Amino acid sequence: MATMDRPLTQNIRADRDFATLADYRKTGGYEGLRKAVTDLGPKAVQQWVKDAGLRGRGGAGFGTGLKWSLVPIGQAPDHPPYLVVNADEMEPGTFKDRLLLEKDPHQLIEGIAIAAYAIQAQTAYIFLRGEYRLAAERLTRALQEARAAHYVGAHLLDSDFSLDIHLHTSAGRYICGEESALLNALEGKRATPRPKPPFAVVSGLWGRPTVVNNAETICNVPHILRHGADWYKGLGRGADAGTKLFGASGRVKRPGLWELPMGTPIREILEEHAGGMKDGYQLRGFLPGGASTDFLLPEHLDVPMEFDTVAKAGSRMGTGTIIVLDDKTCPVRMVLNLERFFAQESCGWCTPCRDGLPWTVTLLQDIVEGRGRPEDLDTLSRLTRMLGPGNTFCALAPGAMEPLQSALKYFREDFERYIFQNRPLKEAV
Ligand code: NAD
Repeated sequence: MATMDRPLTQNIRADRDFATLADYRKTGGYEGLRKAVTDLGPKAVQQWVKDAGLRGRGGAGFGTGLKWSLVPIGQAPDHPPYLVVNADEMEPGTFKDRLLLEKDPHQLIEGIAIAAYAIQAQTAYIFLRGEYRLAAERLTRALQEARAAHYVGAHLLDSDFSLDIHLHTSAGRYICGEESALLNALEGKRATPRPKPPFAVVSGLWGRPTVVNNAETICNVPHILRHGADWYKGLGRGADAGTKLFGASGRVKRPGLWELPMGTPIREILEEHAGGMKDGYQLRGFLPGGASTDFLLPEHLDVPMEFDTVAKAGSRMGTGTIIVLDDKTCPVRMVLNLERFFAQESCGWCTPCRDGLPWTVTLLQDIVEGRGRPEDLDTLSRLTRMLGPGNTFCALAPGAMEPLQSALKYFREDFERYIFQNRPLKEAV
């Protein structure tokens, strides 16, 4: 692919650690910001991003331009909105934002400046996963460079727009990535989710309208401004626009990340880019977009990676980073491992999540340790409904139920083999 076809990673090269400000400028860096503040104006920037069809890359796929357009601009000049970048990437199997943050920090900073301008936010926060220390170091340096070069700060690029960007590192809980818990954490409170509505665009940080965008989402913005909405839309192969960082982990020959058009078939990601399964292993299933998505099967390999097509197949594209299940890994143990993570990371704020996830873990543990009873499968199914959408404050427990409910559907014989025959799948180590 020519670099114009992979804008997000065009500056990521094997012969250097990361793109400096000079490297970033060489490929048109900060031209999008200049165009925004000198030629377009906030409303036009919003319209460009809307026309481009950019959808949120954090997992949910909400329209980015639409989200920005919900912010009331200029209605309370003394209380301008905030922009918050969600870089608290903690979804198991997901490591896409990290690459962008570490390797091309100015791309994120330019995207923030453009997004903040579009909603007229004078303050933006980057909420960064605490363990991403290298990203913190590089972003800190890049922010200093951007301030010195007048891309950030008072009257940036000699315009009438001023912007401060603060880097905030998380104290390290999965729930801090949930947008309303993240806002509580930024305010210095316990990171528990808030009831929605009101959504953050209406009442977010300190009660002000706040746009929360994922880091990868923001990294798309400078390219839309530089090359236009039609160009961006044309990058996608199907209904969804642009490119995306897709990844694969598990027993594939070449686990990794690749920037590919939206709509790339899953088969192409796993067989061409990830090199297919390791010798001696067969593909049994996969989680298409991080741990909190439903399993799909080899029969779904030709599904294009897009929000709506993956949903139609019975899962979610989520973060686009595929976790592969092979024929020598026990799906029950794999799900137990994930549920342990989710139970540990529950913030305890609502009862279904606080009590339901440890109960799920106990039942799964009993099953794999030979104490499972036939009725446990019905109880697990009931739990997937009780912890499902609409019964909790946030998406943590419903997300945790996705791999479980689909494992019960597709790999029921593995659960039953433990319960009725005490003869689990012999796992590879
Ligand atoms: P959501 O659909 O509730 O919201 C998505 C975004 O759209 C939010 O910013 C929300 O404020 C906004 N929104 C939704 N409806 C709105 C409305 N009516 N008006 C205004 N704004 C509205 O999803 P969510 O709970 O924020 O996120 C769940 C997703 O997060 C899942 O898809 C999951 O895959 C993903 N996830 C990602 C990670 C990661 O590390 N990247 C970790 C955990 C979960």
